[in-house]
Amino acid sequence: MKAINLTLCSCDKYFDKGMWKPYHGIEKLIADKVKKQIPKAKVIFKNFEMPMAQKEKKEIEVIAKVKDKETHVKVILKLAKCPLCAREGTQYFEAILQVRSLNVSVLEKAIDLLKKRVEKLRNKGMFINKVEPVSDGFDLFMTNKRIAQSLGKELHEHFGGVFKLSPRIFTRNKQTSKDLYRMSILVRLPDFQVGDIIINHDKVYKVDKTSTKIKLLDIEANNFVTTDYAKMHSHPLKAHTTYVSRIHPYVEVINPYDFQSSMVKNKSLPTLEIGQEVKVVVHRGIYVVE
Ligand SMILES: [Zn+2]
Repeated sequence: MKAINLTLCSCDKYFDKGMWKPYHGIEKLIADKVKKQIPKAKVIFKNFEMPMAQKEKKEIEVIAKVKDKETHVKVILKLAKCPLCAREGTQYFEAILQVRSLNVSVLEKAIDLLKKRVEKLRNKGMFINKVEPVSDGFDLFMTNKRIAQSLGKELHEHFGGVFKLSPRIFTRNKQTSKDLYRMSILVRLPDFQVGDIIINHDKVYKVDKTSTKIKLLDIEANNFVTTDYAKMHSHPLKAHTTYVSRIHPYVEVINPYDFQSSMVKNKSLPTLEIGQEVKVVVHRGIYVVE
């Protein structure tokens, strides 16, 4: 029986009759190939070794057993790159994902989420071939525009903000006369995240949920409002630690700026005790936020 030659890519595809096809388990792939020549054979693997480096070849031997007859079959495994994986580490890109935020912590979380996703998308030919830092974020050069778009949407759904798609013709392929579209995907993330205290249109809120809609807790009234990020006019507010100075007839705390006992603006509060530590923000009055 002649040797079986298999050209494999690290994304679990192999080259067969001019095409790259996915396979599920290398042993099953080899066994299927052996059975094409020796039907009903039981395929036994002895010492199995995969090639690790590009273009490396590993020669192994398997035994095809039919009843008591054993045939030794030589299998040559070669590692290569399929066209999708060959894009990794090149200049190739189909989309630029522009991630922006004025909040470093939001940016870091967004990049962490992207890294996690992209690691699992390798076998779909999705790579980030270049990362270009800009003053308020990153430009990520990605090899698959459809996936880049859905990643941008995911960021928008998770963190809120603005999502903008601008497809543009980049170049015309001279051989095929086809236009090559490259896509810019802008995701401008808010400068706040869940749990932050912000001023929005001159009122104090705690950010409760960020998504395509933003859910805010009105600290003074103690109720929730939902708004569009585009309608917001906000900036973050720093919280201070202070103490409860009075509870009757109204709750008062020590103002962290002038150290005077001041009435708080919250309309409803959990039960507090004098001397208890609380977090407050100051904006035309003082608000207990935690
Ligand atoms: Zn591949």
